[in-house]
Amino acid sequence: MFFIMRPISPARNNTMEDVKLTQKKPPAPKKRGTIRVIVDRCKGCWYCIAYCPTKVLQVSETLNEKGYHPPVLVENPPEKVCIACHMCEMVCPDFAIIVEELK
Ligand code: SF4
Ligand code: SF4
Repeated sequence: MFFIMRPISPARNNTMEDVKLTQKKPPAPKKRGTIRVIVDRCKGCWYCIAYCPTKVLQVSETLNEKGYHPPVLVENPPEKVCIACHMCEMVCPDFAIIVEELK
């Protein structure tokens, strides 16, 4: 039995042009949203912060009436924005977050 061996092309080092081609900016998100926090319902578990896929929720410096720090939306457009995925709303055990989709 015979095998035809194909020549292996020599390894090629990446040029700066190759690096630039692979460093394209991600496309702007199609959906945008914002959140409304019912501050006094929050018990400071921060599940919403942990599960937000774009990491736009942070612990606020203010205290609610129970003594907890509710989350706050901190965006840095165009990449770091609320994409209205509703994850924070779904994981909040106290129904303290309402996501609103922006048109
Ligand atoms: S998940 Fe709900 S209760 Fe927990 S920190 Fe976020 S808003 Fe507050
Ligand atoms: S809707 Fe999604 S992207 Fe927006 S704050 Fe909640 S978890 Fe983050």
